[in-house]
Amino acid sequence: MRRTGRDTMQHALHPLTAYWSKRDFRRTPEPRGRLSHRLGQPRFVVQLHEAHHRHWDLRLEIGGVLKSWSLPVGPSVDPRERRVAIPAEDHPVQYARFQGTIPPGLHGAGQMLLWDEGTWELLVDGSPSDGHARGRLDVRLTGRKLRGAFALFRPRPSDRSPWLLVKLEDEEADAEMDVVVLRPQAVRRASRKSKK
Ligand code: MN
Repeated sequence: MRRTGRDTMQHALHPLTAYWSKRDFRRTPEPRGRLSHRLGQPRFVVQLHEAHHRHWDLRLEIGGVLKSWSLPVGPSVDPRERRVAIPAEDHPVQYARFQGTIPPGLHGAGQMLLWDEGTWELLVDGSPSDGHARGRLDVRLTGRKLRGAFALFRPRPSDRSPWLLVKLEDEEADAEMDVVVLRPQAVRRASRKSKK
């Protein structure tokens, strides 16, 4: 079902309205999904998206959804690298398992593979939602490829400016390792349609 701006206020305030409105769930293999407040350590994923322009989608579970950023150059584990992270619409937490091919002509057409997955935690006091709203998330990622401390922040206060993802110095930092080039593979086998 398509939701549009004509829908009620209640729908307009739902964090997944933008996600739903961009997709036709009769045609895309992506999950429709729903708001899902889970217990336990929040998850993160990075999905390599072979769309018109290849990019890496970073998603952190915050407030019952996956807050999302699109990284045109991908993440880096070299602290000297500052990688642009362009905010994208919130995705449902069910999207964290998604791999597949979005058919031509649809939003995000192209192959999506699960490049990394794991859990994350804030390195500072406070709530993730507040950090996100303020434009600063200092996080520890515990993934298969991305591990250790990262800063994800908006260098300028404007809502529309891109964020940056920077590896912080720690034992997991590696200035010799170009992780997107050296470790391109999916962390899971492509499954049968896992539409849910
Ligand atoms: Mn994408």
